[in-house]
Amino acid sequence: MKNIILIAPPGAGKGTQANMLEEKLNMLHISIGDLLRNEVNKKTELGKSLEVRMQTGKLVDDEIIFEVLKTYLKNVDLSHGIIFDGFPRNINQAIMLDSLDIKIDSAIYLDVPKSVLESRILGRQTCPKCNTGYNSNFTNMKPKIENICDKCGSELTVRHDDTKEVFEKRYETYINETQPVLEFYKNKKILFNINSLDKEEIFNIIIKIIDNTLPVEGI
Ligand code: ADP
Repeated sequence: MKNIILIAPPGAGKGTQANMLEEKLNMLHISIGDLLRNEVNKKTELGKSLEVRMQTGKLVDDEIIFEVLKTYLKNVDLSHGIIFDGFPRNINQAIMLDSLDIKIDSAIYLDVPKSVLESRILGRQTCPKCNTGYNSNFTNMKPKIENICDKCGSELTVRHDDTKEVFEKRYETYINETQPVLEFYKNKKILFNINSLDKEEIFNIIIKIIDNTLPVEGI
C-alpha cells in the first residue's frame, strides 16, 4: 500500500479527501490538527498551551509535533498505507519525516484560490457526534435545518480557529512556512498538483495517483 502526503492551505479540503480515502481504501488518516485538538480536549497543561498557540494561527513547535506523531505511530496499523493530513508543514518537519522508516510515495498539492478558502472556512460546521461536515456558505452543503446535523440530529459546532482573523494568520503561515515544502517534494519528483475544486474529481485524481496511473509531474 501507498503512503501519501496532502499539502494545501487551510480550507482546501485535505481532511475531506483524507476521510474519503480512509473510508474507501481503508488507509490510515493521520490528521495532526485532530491529534492536537484531542490533546486540547483533554485539558492537560500541554493541551492548554496548544490551544493558545492554535488560536493565533501559528504552527505548534516542531518538537511537540514530533512527540505527538511518534507516540501516535507506535499504536496504529500502518500496513494499509497512510495519508498524512497537515504534516509536514515546514521544511524541518519534512526532513524529520524523511528520517522515519516510512517511505512516502506521493505528495499531493491541492491548489485552491484564497477567496474560495475563505468562504469555505467561514461557513464550515461539523457534527461533534458523527463528524459529518457541512458548510453554511454553500447551498449544496448546508444542513437541512440550520445548525442541526442531517444524519444524527446533533447541534453542529464550528472550530475556534475558523474566524476571519485567524484564517488570515493561518494562510500567511501557510505561504511562509508550508509552501516551501512543495519544492522539497518537487525535487524528489513525487509532487502532484491538483487544481480542481470538485470533491469527487479531486478524489478520482488522487486514486489515479495512488494507483500510479498518472505520470509524475511537478508544479
Ligand atoms: P488547517 O488545515 O485548517 O490548517 P488543521 O486542523 O490541519 O487545520 O490545523 C489546525 C492548527 O493546528 C494549525 O493552524 C496549527 O496551529 C496546528 N498544526 C496542525 N498541524 C501542524 C503541524 N504539522 N505543525 C505545526 N502545527 C500544526
